[in-house]
Amino acid sequence: MTAPTTDPWGDRFTDDERALLAPFVTDMDAPIFGLRNLPEVVKGALFSRYSRTDKSLRRILLDEFIQAPESGFAAIVGGAAATGVEQLVAVRQAEAFYERVLVGYGDDSVAELGGAHVACESISNIAAKALEDSRLGISPLEKSTRYVVFNRKLDGRYRYAREPQIMASRHAERYQAALDGLFDAYSALLEPTIAAVRARTPRDAGTSERAYNSATRAKACDVLRGLLPMATLTNVGLFGNGRAFEYLLTRLYASPLAELPALAADMQIALDALIPSFVKRAASERGRAQQAYLRGMRERVAALGDRSWGMRVGSPSAPLSPNPHPASPVTLVEYDRDAEAKTVAAILYPHTDLPLEQVRALVGGLAAEERLAIIRAYVGERGSRFQRPGRAFEEPYYTFDILADLGAYRDLQRHRILTQDRQRYTIQHGYVTPPELEDAGLAQTYVQALERAAEAVETIGVDLPEPAQYAVPMAFRVRWRIKLNLRAAYHMAELRSAPQGHPSYRRIAQAIYERIRAVHPALAEGMRFVDMADYELERLDAERRLDAKLSRASTSEG
Ligand SMILES: Cc1cc2nc3c(=O)[nH]c(=O)nc-3n(C[C@H](O)[C@H](O)[C@H](O)COP(=O)(O)OP(=O)(O)OC[C@H]3O[C@@H](n4cnc5c(N)ncnc54)[C@H](O)[C@@H]3O)c2cc1C
Repeated sequence: MTAPTTDPWGDRFTDDERALLAPFVTDMDAPIFGLRNLPEVVKGALFSRYSRTDKSLRRILLDEFIQAPESGFAAIVGGAAATGVEQLVAVRQAEAFYERVLVGYGDDSVAELGGAHVACESISNIAAKALEDSRLGISPLEKSTRYVVFNRKLDGRYRYAREPQIMASRHAERYQAALDGLFDAYSALLEPTIAAVRARTPRDAGTSERAYNSATRAKACDVLRGLLPMATLTNVGLFGNGRAFEYLLTRLYASPLAELPALAADMQIALDALIPSFVKRAASERGRAQQAYLRGMRERVAALGDRSWGMRVGSPSAPLSPNPHPASPVTLVEYDRDAEAKTVAAILYPHTDLPLEQVRALVGGLAAEERLAIIRAYVGERGSRFQRPGRAFEEPYYTFDILADLGAYRDLQRHRILTQDRQRYTIQHGYVTPPELEDAGLAQTYVQALERAAEAVETIGVDLPEPAQYAVPMAFRVRWRIKLNLRAAYHMAELRSAPQGHPSYRRIAQAIYERIRAVHPALAEGMRFVDMADYELERLDAERRLDAKLSRASTSEG
């Protein structure tokens, strides 16, 4: 037997111990190493021990897990036999052990130490948005309405949610007729729209057929997605940590829409098979109290009803006025008039030893050109949109009120480093008709299907205001507010104005930039990658770049 080796903490491991540990760490000796081949709960519990011990992680793993019978380690991890169900049973059997270790850490954040991938298939767009409303700790990816067509039938039926309350009501037939009408229109218009797009923007010699076909098809999908109702079924994959999942489940359980608590229950089953210790509280007594609190908050305000001081709280359908939408979808409601001085102070702050108030007072005495010079020095020469200014640009906040089509909302809602909150999905703000359809003489079919859906929303909404939202097509406008700081605005305006984006959110990104530039020109000066141009075929350049990448890849393979 060779002499025991020493890890950086002075721990000495015998050859036998090294053999036990080696499958679970990427390196036996280096101070920086990764964990592998361990279930999430073991990794989480292991890390949580860091905070309460002087031992090295390898030592904890060996002494407190591998060689501690109560951890159930052998059964959970031990060899090829312990997979799937057996592993789950073993984790369950050792639950008290893991509970003790995790709870012993003393803070809820320990549930962030384990993660899971969860696939949610055949859920409505309402549910997809509810999932994607998560911010910290959840990373979603959803089937695209641009690259996938949505008119496929299963067993002769279009793929949309048959909302249970509506299906049990006298509105079932009307609901299905309206939604079938939307999908029929989508199907009928797909090929003519692709043809119209191709006629409008013929392929040039420098563009491959692949790139052209892909870009024109994506454009047709962009144009037609307004027909898709919020009931449209889609797939969303989520990667997240236990704590974020627990909160997400709690929110879903508290929803008044039947699909969402049911989805939460299904997700709980999937998560229980992966990270049970981390999500169990969502359905525990504490979780139920939290659900009741969220529900109560919503219901208390909704119950104010007619006493809502002239503001409507309720119906998803009642029209407000014939033309309620302003010229621009974006209104800047609030900004900080002292933002520039505060930002300059925040830029200088890390470079002084003075208290913030004093830095601000000193900045107050600077001339405008001196402030501008400081802002310019901070922003520097940005080489691309990825080179973004730092935290000083989190000083100014902007509140925007947006009224735009649901399709644009769906996309922009995905930005997590800001506050967004929407009103109901409704028909009361009217809908948008893509100019491409009007120019091609195809608007009539589109408009008829939308109008029929609007009638259905209105009628169903009288009895079932919440479920009626499922029938609202994405062409209809929704109102939502965005509160964001300047740093997030740089990211959002530059990313979402990129040429390959959907025109409706590109317009919003451009308007956000213009509004900020109008009130804070010095702070917006560095937003150099906002693309203000209009494009006929938004995805064409991206497809050409993809061609170049594909050709480089095939050259290097060959
Ligand atoms: C051209 C285009 C095509 C797209 N296609 C699809 C699609 O087919 N399907 C789909 O589901 N979505 C799609 N999206 C949406 C995309 O996946 C993002 O959800 C969306 O762009 C939000 O971007 P973000 O994460 O950079 O922004 P934010 O959420 O605003 O985050 C800002 C920045 O914070 C950091 N950040 C935020 N959260 C995390 C985190 N959890 N971990 C690490 N860093 C984080 C990142 O640096 C990020 O850029 C598309 C977006 C674009 C622009």
